[in-house]
Amino acid sequence: MPEKEQKVLQHILSLPEDRLKQIRGKPQEVLKLIDDFSENVESLMNIGPYKGKLIVDKIKEKKPKIMVELGGYVGYSAILFGSSLPDDPSSHYYSLELNEEFANISRQLIDLAGLSHRVSIIVGKASSSLVEMVDHFEEGNKGYFSFDFIFIDHWKDMYVPDLRVLESLTLISPGTIIVADNIYYPGAPDYVKYIQGSPEERRDHNYTVTNVAAPEFQGRWNILYKSETIPVKNPKSGTEDAIEVTECVEYLNG
Ligand code: SAM
Repeated sequence: MPEKEQKVLQHILSLPEDRLKQIRGKPQEVLKLIDDFSENVESLMNIGPYKGKLIVDKIKEKKPKIMVELGGYVGYSAILFGSSLPDDPSSHYYSLELNEEFANISRQLIDLAGLSHRVSIIVGKASSSLVEMVDHFEEGNKGYFSFDFIFIDHWKDMYVPDLRVLESLTLISPGTIIVADNIYYPGAPDYVKYIQGSPEERRDHNYTVTNVAAPEFQGRWNILYKSETIPVKNPKSGTEDAIEVTECVEYLNG
C-alpha cells in the first residue's frame, strides 16, 4: 500500500468543498498543493517546480502533439507537462505507469486538474505499453507515427533498455526531444554514456548487451543524437540534480 501517495490524495480531496471548487480545473493549484505536501509533510518523487520549469520551456518551444512519459507516479509531471501542451485538440499526453495504485491516484488528481481529456494513463511495464500503443495507433489507421517529446523518469536501470525499445519501434525520429530526469541524483551514468555515445559505440552496446526490457528490441544504433546534461539547483534545499536533454537529429544510412 503506497501510504504517503494515498495521503497526498486524501490531503487534497478532503479540503473543504469551497476550496476544492477553487482548485478544480486549475492545474497550477493542484501542483501547488502537491508541492506543499512534498516540502512540508512527506517527500514525494515528483519532478518538482525547478527542473519542471526547464522542461515546460522546452515543451513550449517544441509544441509537441504527442508527448509520452515513462513513469507517471501520482501525476505531478503529467499535470505540469500535460497542461503545457499547445492548445490544440490533437495534442495528447500519455503517462505510462507500472503501479496500479499510483495510476489510480494520478487519475484522480489529473481529473481534479481538469486534464482528463488530454492526459491518458496507461498502466503496465513501459516496454509492453509502448508495443500496445504502436498496435493501437496502427489499428486506428493512423499509419506511421513517432513521438514528438518523451520524458523518461521511471527506474534508472530501465532508462537504456526502454530507450532501446523506443528506438526499435521507431517511436524516436528526427526532431523528437527526449528529456531524462535524475541524471546526477540518484544518477543515470549508463544512460548518459549511451545517449552521448557515438552511433558506433551504441551499435557495439546493442550487439553485445541483451535488452532486459525486451530482448527482441535491440535498439537502433544509426541515430544521430545531440545531447546535453543540464544541471539544476533546487534553491530551497540547495541540492543539485540534472536533466539530460536530447534531440534526435537524423537517421544515418546503415
Ligand atoms: N514522473 C513523475 C513525476 O515527476 O511526477 C515521477 C515518476 S517516479 C520518479 C517513477 C515512477 O516510475 C514510479 O511511479 C514507478 O512505479 C514507475 N515505474 C518504474 N518502473 C516502471 C516501468 N518499467 N514502466 C512504467 N513505470 C515504471
